[in-house]
Amino acid sequence: MKKKTVKDISSLRGKTIFLRVEFNVSLNNGKVTNDIRIIEALPTINYLLNRGAKLVLACHLGRPKGIVNPKYSLLPVAQRASELLKKPIHLVKNFWEEHALGEVKKWKKKEIILLENLRFHKGEESNDKRLAKHLSKMAEIYVNDAFGSTHRAHASIVGVPEYLPSFAGLLLDKEITIISSALENPKKPFVVVIGGAKTPEKIGVIEKLLDIGDTVLLGGAIANTFLAAWGFGMGRSLVDHEMVEMSRVLFWKSSRQHSALILPQDVVTSDSERKTKPKVVPYNEVNNDAVIYDIGPKTAQHYQEIMRSAKTIIWNGPMGLFEDPRFSAGTECILKTLTECKGATTIIGGGDTLSTIHEKDLLKNITHISTGGGATLEFLRFGTLPGIEVLQDA
Ligand code: ADP
Ligand code: MG
Repeated sequence: MKKKTVKDISSLRGKTIFLRVEFNVSLNNGKVTNDIRIIEALPTINYLLNRGAKLVLACHLGRPKGIVNPKYSLLPVAQRASELLKKPIHLVKNFWEEHALGEVKKWKKKEIILLENLRFHKGEESNDKRLAKHLSKMAEIYVNDAFGSTHRAHASIVGVPEYLPSFAGLLLDKEITIISSALENPKKPFVVVIGGAKTPEKIGVIEKLLDIGDTVLLGGAIANTFLAAWGFGMGRSLVDHEMVEMSRVLFWKSSRQHSALILPQDVVTSDSERKTKPKVVPYNEVNNDAVIYDIGPKTAQHYQEIMRSAKTIIWNGPMGLFEDPRFSAGTECILKTLTECKGATTIIGGGDTLSTIHEKDLLKNITHISTGGGATLEFLRFGTLPGIEVLQDA
């Protein structure tokens, strides 16, 4: 399933490219707190600029649900990207209006264009044909470098490519190449670490990874749902009750296939307001009014031992509520262990997972930092994504 990339575009000079990027970064007080996703997009941006192309960048940020909301404005992102590129960026506010076409035409000569948050218009998520057609009028060529959104059948991912010749960016191409090779011919043992809170989005992937992986280690709120499926009381912890049945199916599947699905043996708890002192308890002794916020130290050590013998490791999702330093130990242990597995192919993905990496030095010890969360997982599960399918075949 090889797709044409930007390197297959015969002449870029003077061409206008609609470049879908993944600048969905975390913000705090109007400042970008983690710019890994912007940095990862720079090679494609520079590749196109160096060959004389004009750029219309487009992306979404958070979930404004089709409503203009200053909280989700891309202005801080434009500022950070402009600093990194050392070039001015012009932000087009009401990009869905007719006059935006003129604004793009006028500014693209001098500056890189960035459209305001695509999800300020409801047509982005509903893949509205009119919006897609309107966006396609801004450029001559479509390039997707937003791997993290490529699993979504949204206007900027699958709609615009209906109207323009469409190519993969360098980052998207790299993601496809590295992840497919890890899946097609993984070095064994193959260990998968899954955590986080998005249980419905992740559970099907756990199922697929039980087929190809040797061991799946669970943490985070997802593990609560699996423990609840065993029948243990989870107090007031985050549990996805609709996913309990599916968890049971996975227990059955793992026992049938002799792949291991491992749950935390101890957990760190507090109350729902996180006021009481954190307490480590065994998985089967969670109080009725307690909430699980992290895996316990025994679990972390056990997971570490399993990871150390692995030759391929994929990690997605924090082991707990890592944003609170009292509950970040489990997640930090997984990250540290992963970066120490020098002989293994290591792949990590997930918006929140990436934001747990504060020391940039650690990045170079990881084989591949996937810029996708849900996209990485869906790609692992299905071997392709809706936004990859619409690109031109190589
Ligand atoms: P990713 O973006 O890496 O795929 P998710 O979005 O699925 O990860 O989940 C990340 C979020 O899950 C974080 O905000 C984290 O605080 C939260 N989380 C993880 N474990 C727990 C838990 N036990 N209780 C509550 N929230 C949790
Ligand atoms: Mg997340």
